[in-house]
Amino acid sequence: MRALATLVLIVVFAAEAAASPWNVVLHGGRRYVPIEDVSRFYKLNPPVTNNQSFILSGPTKSIRGRAGTREVFINNVKYILCFPIVQKGKDILVSAMDVTKIIEPVMRPGQIRNAGAVRTVVLDAGHGGHDSGAKGQRGMEKEAALDVVLRAKRLLEQAGYTVRLTRGRDVFIPLENRAAFANRFPNAIFVSVHFNKSAKGCASGIETFALAPRGVPSMDEENFSYSDLKQHPGHARDPENIALATALHSSMLRHMRLHDRGIKRARFVVIRDIRIPGVLLEGGFMNHPVDGRLIASPAYRDSFARAILDGVNRYQKALAGTMSFQKPSAVAGGADPTSVPDIRSRLSTIGMAPTLNEAVQRTAQDLKKKAKENASTHAN
Ligand SMILES: [Zn+2]
Repeated sequence: MRALATLVLIVVFAAEAAASPWNVVLHGGRRYVPIEDVSRFYKLNPPVTNNQSFILSGPTKSIRGRAGTREVFINNVKYILCFPIVQKGKDILVSAMDVTKIIEPVMRPGQIRNAGAVRTVVLDAGHGGHDSGAKGQRGMEKEAALDVVLRAKRLLEQAGYTVRLTRGRDVFIPLENRAAFANRFPNAIFVSVHFNKSAKGCASGIETFALAPRGVPSMDEENFSYSDLKQHPGHARDPENIALATALHSSMLRHMRLHDRGIKRARFVVIRDIRIPGVLLEGGFMNHPVDGRLIASPAYRDSFARAILDGVNRYQKALAGTMSFQKPSAVAGGADPTSVPDIRSRLSTIGMAPTLNEAVQRTAQDLKKKAKENASTHAN
């Protein structure tokens, strides 16, 4: 009788385990899950670990990362996670937020609900008019961004898309107006084109920003602020935002062949206040010698435009569940000290200072403080 009761209990527990594959662990007040659960859920091989590093791989997909960092590579594309990967005893844990907001929509984009086919692409050339954006020795960001957008417009129209531009000439448009303009179009996506600048001219590479989900700190801010909990219109599109970022970023890596700085999170006005899926692309550093020379060349601008067309097509395929994952031809993938987001340079180069929300302003203040403390070890 006792043996039977034990057997019944085992069966019940087994059934429960099958119904709920996640062994949620609380760490620092946040929900985490072990990487074993992630590999089982996505039908990948059991984790292979080496000290703090791990890889989960299958025939066509893979996830790798390292405890103590916020970087993860999914299908060889780099993402900056919402929260650090942690090691607790023998277990390596990933935050439940990152599983929901990054891993799930990237691993199974075909599961995203209500994502319709894209008919219209709203292209947003950053800056304009009195706002030049980042300046390099070979030109200004506002001019390079507009040129890339005009090239992308031609390619997208040839491919049958309707294209709308927030600006088609050298004119200043407030960020709020750009978002309001984008919201006029149904079945549309929003792509904002920018170039970067670093304080010392050493940073290089491309990066892509998707809206930070509700409850996630912006950039590399670890501490919550009240505004991180605010709901914004763009949050309705969290899964599409990261799927669009994935498609465009991996296309940029393939076409532009610059260093991969990863897919990151922010609450920039143009991606925060839109109701359609959107991303902000940074196509290299105006004041880096190699990046700056490339950005000034028509060939590189053409590659950027082709990356946008290719990325929009890949996004559609991903959502339709017909995307076959290929390795992007990233030039580099390892830890890059300069890819830690530097909000201070963004304040001046993106020209968003007057409209940054509280979270980003707070991040800026904290980073300034941190930078002072780490002045001697700052790698950027
Ligand atoms: Zn910019």
